[in-house]
Amino acid sequence: MGLNIILLFKYVPNTNTVNVDPNTGTLVREGVPSVVNPHDLDAAELALELREKYGGKITAMIMAPPNAMKGIEFLMGMGVDEGVLITDRAYGGADTLATSYVLAAGIRTIEHYDLIITGQETLDSSTAHIGAQLASWLKLPYVYYVTEASLNDGTLIVKRQLESYTEKYRVKLPALITVLMHSHQPRPVTLENKLRAVIKKPIKMLTNNDLKLNIMCTGLRGSPTVVAKTEFIAKIPRKKEILKDKSPQETAAWLLSKLKEEGFLN
Ligand SMILES: Cc1cc2nc3c(=O)[nH]c(=O)nc-3n(C[C@H](O)[C@H](O)[C@H](O)COP(=O)(O)OP(=O)(O)OC[C@H]3O[C@@H](n4cnc5c(N)ncnc54)[C@H](O)[C@@H]3O)c2cc1C
Repeated sequence: MGLNIILLFKYVPNTNTVNVDPNTGTLVREGVPSVVNPHDLDAAELALELREKYGGKITAMIMAPPNAMKGIEFLMGMGVDEGVLITDRAYGGADTLATSYVLAAGIRTIEHYDLIITGQETLDSSTAHIGAQLASWLKLPYVYYVTEASLNDGTLIVKRQLESYTEKYRVKLPALITVLMHSHQPRPVTLENKLRAVIKKPIKMLTNNDLKLNIMCTGLRGSPTVVAKTEFIAKIPRKKEILKDKSPQETAAWLLSKLKEEGFLN
């Protein structure tokens, strides 16, 4: 039947170089190099495997400033078919509620979709809210921590992994799944795919002129979450102790004594 998949991803700043605005508590992203959220690459790989097996199309979608176009191009380099960039100044400073509100509106502009796939969480905020919130806006069934997915008679069969056991679900489509981090080995970008992205540019831009959302419900104004205070935790310097030229038994005994010394073991 072919699956029309929407792959949601975030373009995250390199977390080592990010600063926080002390007045608003929001991240200062300007001038910081960004990458596709690494956990979304697991989701991309699963989406590509599903398309290879069942046919269909993958649309990568993001709500972000215009520089996230590079993120769409990266995913298209992996093999994703097309992209949608939702961008508008009125969407800046959004918390997860305002983000999922806009993303749901973006998804509604897509005529037909069977499956929405997200990563488990992001590197820079890690709330893992977006999947569940989107499923609520769109009234879709959803399953978190998915490791495997397949189709059976038009129904999605998914396996999800919890701490010490797995569960199998049969889910009616359309549905939303979030993919367990580190569950897939993302394929590399190829030059051929990358050229297709750059030359054909099958990337659509949506602004609030298209979505026509009430801007009191988007961006900072539509965000009920307030960062009350940000505290920075002092970095613990490494001791850089190295034990050399000892037998495995002596090394293990030394390590054990160090762990006891630091209070990690009794
Ligand atoms: C008060 C407040 C102010 C904030 N201000 C800003 C700000 O100024 N600028 C800013 O960028 N962030 C800001 N944030 C963070 C912002 O709310 C989150 O980055 C965003 O809502 C997504 O949440 P998350 O990163 O925790 O995603 P999670 O819920 O952890 O993400 C789960 C999955 O959802 C998908 N996803 C997440 N975000 C997007 C997206 N934007 N587009 C498409 N798919 C997505 C990805 O597949 C991801 O793996 C703010 C947060 C708060 C609480």
